[in-house]
Amino acid sequence: VAALLDLSVDELKSPAFAEVFAGNRVLPGMQPYAACYGGHQFGQWAGQLGDGRAITLGEVVNRAGERWELQLKGAGPTPYSRTADGRAVLRSSIREFLCSEAMHHLGVPSTRALCLVATGDEVTRDMFYDGRARAEPGAIVCRVAPSFIRFGNFEIFAARDDTTTLGRLVDFTIERDFPEIEGNGADRRIQWFESVCARTAVMVAHWLRVGFVHGVMNTDNMSILGLTIDYGPYGWLENFDPGWTPNTTDASGRRYRFGQQAQIAHWNLAQLANALVPVFPSTESLEAGLERFASTFEAEQRRMTAAKCGFTDFREGDPELVGDLYTLLHKAEVDMTIFFRALADVDIARPQLEPLHAAFYAEDKRAATQSEFAAWLARYAARASIDALPEQIRRARMNAINPRYVLRNYLAQEAIDLAEQGDTSRIDELLEVMRHPYDDQPGRERFAQKRPDWARTRAGCSMLSCSS
Ligand code: AMP
Ligand code: MG
Repeated sequence: VAALLDLSVDELKSPAFAEVFAGNRVLPGMQPYAACYGGHQFGQWAGQLGDGRAITLGEVVNRAGERWELQLKGAGPTPYSRTADGRAVLRSSIREFLCSEAMHHLGVPSTRALCLVATGDEVTRDMFYDGRARAEPGAIVCRVAPSFIRFGNFEIFAARDDTTTLGRLVDFTIERDFPEIEGNGADRRIQWFESVCARTAVMVAHWLRVGFVHGVMNTDNMSILGLTIDYGPYGWLENFDPGWTPNTTDASGRRYRFGQQAQIAHWNLAQLANALVPVFPSTESLEAGLERFASTFEAEQRRMTAAKCGFTDFREGDPELVGDLYTLLHKAEVDMTIFFRALADVDIARPQLEPLHAAFYAEDKRAATQSEFAAWLARYAARASIDALPEQIRRARMNAINPRYVLRNYLAQEAIDLAEQGDTSRIDELLEVMRHPYDDQPGRERFAQKRPDWARTRAGCSMLSCSS
């Protein structure tokens, strides 16, 4: 990310860099601000919110002519902090830092992370809101994106009946961040909303492809650019379960569970559409955008699912084949990431279950579903053989879309445990692994293994709260 900003290694090592990115120094030309926005949280209009602990330092245009905004998270109070402290703890900052980069390298649209600075301050948090507050080390992440504008930035002006500013923000956003959109006036705005819907659909299709659960898909956490933003109580599917959410704050309703993310994205876009009504010529033009979400999501999901299975396209019968697979993976507690890599290793001329064994969490469930998996694998092999791809090509294609390495919840937690004891080497090591998620990395097999038993119920591994 430093290279994107044309920062040299010497600059990264300078005391000035640490001062600026610890939030202690404003350089000439920087114009720090915190943004005001509103949002729908857990299905309800939550009124005015805002960057409670995010401060944009300014923007940089690099030598390639790209514009990037730099934003500190956790540097202290802002006008929108309400009663909170504006700080962030080390554990959540490590999680944001590593996951932003892991997502980017997986090919999932995301905000990026430049650096992680330990502040030396203590920050008090009650992790499970149960009266057991403790002092934790503080940290600041600098995130980087072309824009941090959220759905909620539009919703707030609609809520205030400020149509003039709402329209100006729409045109500003189009002008600055959607240069590919041509035309003018109402037509341009209509194309823009369709583009926002399409980008959001692509993002969510990628989440489902890699097994990512955002955890808090409130409209204030939805980027207008379709970037994954605000890494809080997110998690990665290990044993495949569409009903899973890592967010303990959402445990009762599980609104933001893995398998519901597309519906929630659509619901969030509908809230954005409602906010935009006063500056659009008709509600039909906004409905067209929402339809674009549905069609883009379906097309992307079909394309990605076919590729995950090593098929050249998604044909008749494939939705049933894949649907049956997901039912089986759920029932038998199978690790999604390991399974798809292993599926590439199955010889479709002589399909055997053996390569898939390592993906099962429970030996009894594996034994109990053996015949069902054998039957499914025979159907899969028959289907794959229709494409008549050479085995090496099928394997290479599958391995280019099914990651070997994802930021498993327990891997991040191990890095956090070490860092809290002063050893930050695991953060560097994990970052390096996550930069090449589709490559087999000899010597780093341990980072591709399924969740160990100790992590099944451990806080930070399977359960996370919004406290950060
Ligand atoms: P986040 O998890 O960063 O999306 O935070 C959710 C909302 O609460 C955002 O509007 C934040 O600005 C706000 N918030 C969370 N933690 C703090 C904090 N320590 N100080 C101020 N605002 C916070
Ligand atoms: Mg947020």
